[in-house]
This record gives sequence, structure tokens and C-alpha cells, in this order.
Amino acid sequence: MKSQKVSIIPADYWQAITENDPAFDDQFFYGVQTTGIFCRPSCKSRVPSKENVHIFKNAFLAIEQGYRPCKRCKPDGLQLPTEEWVQQITEWMDAHFTENVTLDKLAEVTHSSPFHLQRSFKQLTGISPFTYLQQKRLEKAAQELATTDQTVAAVGRAVGFSNIPYFITLFKKKTGQTPAQYRKGVDCSGSKID
Ligand SMILES: [Zn+2]
Repeated sequence: MKSQKVSIIPADYWQAITENDPAFDDQFFYGVQTTGIFCRPSCKSRVPSKENVHIFKNAFLAIEQGYRPCKRCKPDGLQLPTEEWVQQITEWMDAHFTENVTLDKLAEVTHSSPFHLQRSFKQLTGISPFTYLQQKRLEKAAQELATTDQTVAAVGRAVGFSNIPYFITLFKKKTGQTPAQYRKGVDCSGSKID
């Protein structure tokens, strides 16, 4: 048997699942452990056993856990309005930018093609997913430089740059200062960063 992981399902969520309530479709998704499929609350598929149900805040988290989207209610990102979809991608990147996130990886996680992902994201935000990631990394690096005494290389690696000379070059290009110069310019309270 699988390990008995207790998963707490709020009563109103469970009711939404059993009643196929579409009002909850934008609030959560549920995966069924025994089938490996995840659904929208409104899905008309057979109501699963409660102990096999896992709740996910968004479709990507379910996909990350190895669940496949249900063919019937199509809970994957592509079904969402682009705006909401892009927001979910952004949230995912916010949580994972320190890792080695490639466009392929992002496409896999978001259940999309690299082409579709790149185009939709750029249409809505004006920048590519990669540029967004780099911005997050640089912001975080600036914060780390100001508030820790980690070496520049350690900061670069910690925020997701595997190539340190590239990190330094990019940082300088965006802020006008090298990471070391930037650190010097910040007083020790780090008050330059909000
Ligand atoms: Zn379904």
C-alpha cells in the first residue's frame, strides 16, 4: 500500500468536488492518487474516494507531483485564459528561479510547448520568460549582496547563475555597477533595498 499521507480537504472543497461546482474551478484542482489524474472541481467524472484526493492550488503543482491532466475537464494551463496562465507561470518562476530553469523545463512544467509559452508570455508581459527569470535573479542577488557577506560568486550561484562571469556582466549591464561596487555602495543596514 501507498504511505498513508493524511491530506486535509476543506469541507467546502470536498463539497465542490462531489457537487461538481464550477464556482470553485479557479480556486483549486484535485488529484486522485489511485489514477494519477487531476481534475477541476466541476469535472463530471466519478467522485473519487476522499482518502485518495489531493488538493492543489494550481495545475502546475499537480503536474509537478506527477499527475496528468484529465482528458474530460482539461485542467491544464492551456485551457485557462492567457492572463491567468501567464500569472501561474510567473508564480512558478518566482518559486523556482534559483534553480536551473530552462525554457524546456518551463514548458514541461506548464504543460505547454516552448514556442507557445514564449509567445504567450511575451505577448502579455512584454518580456520573455527568460528575461523575467534573469530579473528575479538580479533582484535577489542585489538583496543578498546588500544584506549578507556571501562572496559575489556564492551570491551568483545562490540566485541561479551557474556562470559567474556572466552574472557579473549582466548585473553591471542592468545596474551600472558590478556586484562588488554595488555592495560597497549600500550601507550596512541594507537600506538601499526596499
Ligand atoms: Zn476531470
